[in-house]
Amino acid sequence: MSHNENPFDASPAGHPPIGATVLGYPRIGPRRELKRALERYWAGRSTEDELHATGRRLRERTWLELRDAGLDSVPGNTFSYYDQVLDTAVLFDAVPERFRAAGLSELDTYFAMARGVAGVPPLELTKWFDTNYHHLVPELAEHTRFALVGDKPVAEYRQAAALGVRTRPVLLGPVSFLLLAKPSPAARPGFTPLDLLEPLLACYGELLARLRAAGASWVQLDEPALVADRSPAEIAAVRTAYAWLSGRTERPALLVAGYYGELGEALDPLARTGIEALGVDLVAGRAGLNRLVATPALRDKTLVAGVVDGRNVWRTDLDAALATCATLFGTAGAVAVSTSCPLLHVPYDVTVESTMDARLRSWLAFARQKVDEVVLLGRALRHGPDRVAGELAEVRATRQDRAGAPGLRDDRVRARLAALRPEDARRGPYPRRAAAQRAALRLPALPTTTIGSFPQTDAVRRARAALRAGQLDPAGYRERMRAEITRVVRLQEEIGLDVLVHGEPERNDMVQYFAERLAGFATTELGWVQSYGSRCVRPPILFGDVSRPAPMTVSWAGFAQSLTPRPVKGMLTGPVTILAWSFVRDDQPLATTARQVALAIRDEVRDLEAAGIRVVQVDEPALRELLPPRKRHRRDYLDWAVTAFRLATSGVADSTQIHTHMCYSEFGDVLDAIDGIDADVTSVEAARSGMAVLADLASAGFARQVGPGVYDIHSPRVPDVAEIAELLRAAVRAVPGERLWVNPDCGLKTRSYDQVEPALRNLVAAAGQVRADL
Ligand code: GLN
Ligand code: ZN
Repeated sequence: MSHNENPFDASPAGHPPIGATVLGYPRIGPRRELKRALERYWAGRSTEDELHATGRRLRERTWLELRDAGLDSVPGNTFSYYDQVLDTAVLFDAVPERFRAAGLSELDTYFAMARGVAGVPPLELTKWFDTNYHHLVPELAEHTRFALVGDKPVAEYRQAAALGVRTRPVLLGPVSFLLLAKPSPAARPGFTPLDLLEPLLACYGELLARLRAAGASWVQLDEPALVADRSPAEIAAVRTAYAWLSGRTERPALLVAGYYGELGEALDPLARTGIEALGVDLVAGRAGLNRLVATPALRDKTLVAGVVDGRNVWRTDLDAALATCATLFGTAGAVAVSTSCPLLHVPYDVTVESTMDARLRSWLAFARQKVDEVVLLGRALRHGPDRVAGELAEVRATRQDRAGAPGLRDDRVRARLAALRPEDARRGPYPRRAAAQRAALRLPALPTTTIGSFPQTDAVRRARAALRAGQLDPAGYRERMRAEITRVVRLQEEIGLDVLVHGEPERNDMVQYFAERLAGFATTELGWVQSYGSRCVRPPILFGDVSRPAPMTVSWAGFAQSLTPRPVKGMLTGPVTILAWSFVRDDQPLATTARQVALAIRDEVRDLEAAGIRVVQVDEPALRELLPPRKRHRRDYLDWAVTAFRLATSGVADSTQIHTHMCYSEFGDVLDAIDGIDADVTSVEAARSGMAVLADLASAGFARQVGPGVYDIHSPRVPDVAEIAELLRAAVRAVPGERLWVNPDCGLKTRSYDQVEPALRNLVAAAGQVRADL
């Protein structure tokens, strides 16, 4: 350790200081260049070389941009053709046999693991921690033999070095890699991926040596899995891993980054190993600051202070960030400044948002602006805040402007919230509701329905684009949508479904559609964020108090209902999902924002009821996504999430049936909440897990109606009647028939009609068969 007086310029012996950095950067391309290149390649319209050329251009652009912006340390290996967890599996040869047997090129094997190929199902795709990014789940077994067969991190290090940028390669850490993996079906019972720690470490050790030989002075090992509650065995694995890796002599200096929360019980064991630096999330994990200050083992480390929020889009309070860094000065041997997590979850650049309100834009920082914030903080720490007084004052002024801006506060919304009573979030007793709904709806046993969307045809997409481009007037657009709704209603009648939907042709996205119609939200033009592979989303920005100026869906649902005597189900997105898939305001508790959104949805539910809609579905596919990583924070979250749903849906008569839909099949941590939201009917993903979810629900005492998905819409396959009937018979064994619904796993919008039509016919036929033997 050099004894520099300024801890910002200090560093462990022999290594350059980290200074100002970011933990990672977006990779899909500022104009989604990678998405386009991938989809062209998958469609057979470009060569492997062309794809690689795009990848290389994007990487080079990122390195140069980050260096030229003034970062002291530029992260490397943040690029991926699909997913960093998949990259790690392939790097260490953890490729299940079914993909090797397919006899594909290296690149196509990689894509087969992500997307499957004829007859070979892909790895499972699942949520990356509490974000809306998804990663692939490596499959491991006791016979998995890790070997360092790839060289992506080294090759990319060399490419950057050739351009004159000495990067800090970012690797997924060994403990998180194993905790994110699952035992393959071939694994012996009792095997857990952590059993493979030792052989995996040997491969990491070899990789570190190669990176060192290539010239890398630092490596970043990401361990986000450590911000969740971990067992003593898992903490022991952390100790083993980093004691061993830091004990290698041929290696770069090690920065271990734990983000999306606080390191908690993993902090001290990590700090006691020989790693050189620790990256901590001081935004989501702000509560961990005291623990950091009380950890003497940090005295000979660099603490990389993640003070710039990597997940939200507001400009940072730089005064507060500097104060946080100052607190750490006495704690660590050196302090560097960074983002709280990689910048994967924010769009590239807010300055390209030319149609956004200029005042709103001035309050925002996307990835590129966050880099500038980190650089500015670095200058303040290095030379003292006086040297950047002008810039700090400007940031202070925009933050003050935001705090006082009109449009953020709506006194009517505030008054309504203040006047809420507990009974506003309570409906009548379920048995009374069920009886009223039976009388109102007169449905058969095992009623059939869908989850809402029907395939989005090219004609529908073209009409939406034409409306946006001004080539189609609103009346012409309405006519086309009505024609589509009519077609979809007639089709459902003809197939024989019991509860119909209008098909959602008018919706671009289940959150954006509502954000465009609610006060308090803004949308972006180019604010794309990777969700998985080539899939991107454009989260709206929730900046102010939320209200609903006018009905949002009533005319579409009402029109659909006017076409048919069968009940048409109104279709809304729930408050928790709207928050989860938006950038939310950071100036009030999320629970308050959730209640505001809930009241706006409540207005819509009541208007649907008033328009003659007897069944309303409020989708909450993201309920589980926002679950905090640490158990002790969960109760609080689930309380406000459940309250928000109930507020949204409790304004209607007993006879109005409330449905909800959730797209996952593991309910372990949210079973109580699913019961607590008190929907009359809950539809869930279940086909792939063979109805296992029903046993979970039954064991939790869930006593209302449930629609386990019997048609896996994530696959192009059309299930036949016998197969669906078998799933239904399994369902009838787990849940009394009078509480069961028959429906697909999720919305149909990503499928085509030649798949959906026969599948729905089979679903109706299977329901008929099973109904006959009830
Ligand atoms: N109603 C939505 C649809 O059918 C639900 C989508 C979802 O669950 N993600 O598309
Ligand atoms: Zn779904």
